[in-house]
Amino acid sequence: MTAAIVDAGGIKICEGDRRYAALCRGLDPRRRARPDYIRLVSDSAQVRHALEQAVNEPVSDPSRTRIAVRSGGHCHEDACGEDVRVVIDMSLMDDVHHDPAMDAVCVEAGATDGDLRKKLWLRTGKVMPGGSFPSAGIGGHVPAGGFGLLSRQHGLTVDHLYAVEVAVVGRDRRVRLVTATRDSRDEHLRELWWAHTGGGGGNFGISTRFWFRDLPDAPERVLFTAGGWKWADIDKERFARIVGNFGRFFAEHRRPGGPYDPLSASLQLTHRSQGAIRLIAQIDAGVPGARDLLARFLAAVDEDVGVRRRSLGEPHGCPTLSGLHTPVVLPWDTVERLLGPADGMRAGKHKSAYMVRPLPDEQVETLWRGLAEDVPGVARDAVVQIDSYGGAINRPAPGETAVMQRSSILRLHYQVHWPITEQGEGHLRWIRELYRSMYAATGGVPLPAFLQDDPVTDGCCIGHPDADLDDPAWNASDVPWWRLYYGRDYRRLQRVKERWDPLDVFRHPQSVRLP
Ligand SMILES: Cc1cc2nc3c(=O)[nH]c(=O)nc-3n(C[C@H](O)[C@H](O)[C@H](O)COP(=O)(O)OP(=O)(O)OC[C@H]3O[C@@H](n4cnc5c(N)ncnc54)[C@H](O)[C@@H]3O)c2cc1C
Repeated sequence: MTAAIVDAGGIKICEGDRRYAALCRGLDPRRRARPDYIRLVSDSAQVRHALEQAVNEPVSDPSRTRIAVRSGGHCHEDACGEDVRVVIDMSLMDDVHHDPAMDAVCVEAGATDGDLRKKLWLRTGKVMPGGSFPSAGIGGHVPAGGFGLLSRQHGLTVDHLYAVEVAVVGRDRRVRLVTATRDSRDEHLRELWWAHTGGGGGNFGISTRFWFRDLPDAPERVLFTAGGWKWADIDKERFARIVGNFGRFFAEHRRPGGPYDPLSASLQLTHRSQGAIRLIAQIDAGVPGARDLLARFLAAVDEDVGVRRRSLGEPHGCPTLSGLHTPVVLPWDTVERLLGPADGMRAGKHKSAYMVRPLPDEQVETLWRGLAEDVPGVARDAVVQIDSYGGAINRPAPGETAVMQRSSILRLHYQVHWPITEQGEGHLRWIRELYRSMYAATGGVPLPAFLQDDPVTDGCCIGHPDADLDDPAWNASDVPWWRLYYGRDYRRLQRVKERWDPLDVFRHPQSVRLP
């Protein structure tokens, strides 16, 4: 085994080290790099050294020049692909503590949602409202916005971001650590902070630490339900009623400050081969009338469906959710753990869309065809997850943060997975064709609301990057990928890029480009 080098830039791992292969891949096994080396860094000073060394050393292979940063490795596109020469891995930087100087909670970029449970919630009783996957890294999750089951009540994670420390590379190739706060005197620093409130990861520098103020208390308990309708009982009309009822409920309760802000729900439209469509909902059990509010929501979704929601236990593949179709009161973190697993053993493709209106009939019909049709062996492990949006998420004014979608009611997360031993062509074709058909009226993609006369959609989520948005075969609109994620804010992000990453050191297929 080649000995790792340990110096001022942390631990340097090269091919021949037993850790190399594991550190070359992301959560999705399709995403593999073959870098010259990987740097495991433990503090901000090591990040500065490692980055300065990486940007100043000679490059021997012109096909591999990129320096990539990885925190949780959840990215499912080529953020860490074959053209990467150096990976700076943040996973050892996972501390979480109260910082009295900042009067804020400091979270290092390599901490995961799982670390936060222990190091934030157990220590302080506070939570970040976004994120339901224990292995997602804060370094990628925060600049993507950060959405989770508590967001309708408390907003996105970035709505609580006070400051960020970033290692940036100047024109002279020197690396500096800068701290950007939302009230920095220097306008450029304020803009750098803003770019971290939704401008996406891997664009401006290496984020080393984040500080959060006014984080909410975790609910002591939540009232939780997970049930579903057997696919065998579902026909096209029933499917349309479930999807329509769900969308109308959150359209009605889109504004912040209403009684349903503490309620979140996820309608998981699985492929027919999975046996049942799932509905998961939770409400803070401490709010007055929680049981009634949840009951009214469930009644609204069930209206005129004509078949009962049932337990999701066997044979529907969710033994841990068995018997929960009758709402139960659970400690808050039990639900977070119930929903969490992301295994790293399956390859996958993800797509996303925001909705400002319930799904129109033609989209519901397209979903029905995509999910109810039996495509042997193809769509077995597929789900279109419709998450409730709105409430406190819709409180910030446009432009206050870099998340442009502040009037949406639903967020759609399209997912298909397949075994790592397979190439997945059929699965990829399935999800691409379904998505293109869903937005056929607008060139195969969900346009931002401001580009539509009578808006239905509001673009895509940078937390689920999708390289197809940059491929004319799948995006026939004349709206480029960056407008779908960032809308009118892209030019502002480009100005931040020009100021803080003038050499375009931080780049990947869908990174913010220099103007
Ligand atoms: C199964 C699944 C479920 C998800 N569920 C949710 C959810 O419930 N809510 C939600 O909001 N999002 C969700 N996401 C999206 C997830 O939050 C984003 O993909 C996020 O970017 C992952 O961050 P990471 O650090 O784990 O990934 P990484 O792959 O490590 O990083 C993602 C991007 O950020 C960059 N980056 C990472 N760390 C740094 C850093 N320190 N400095 C600069 N750039 C950095 C990377 O270069 C890359 O471009 C989910 C994703 C998956 C795969």
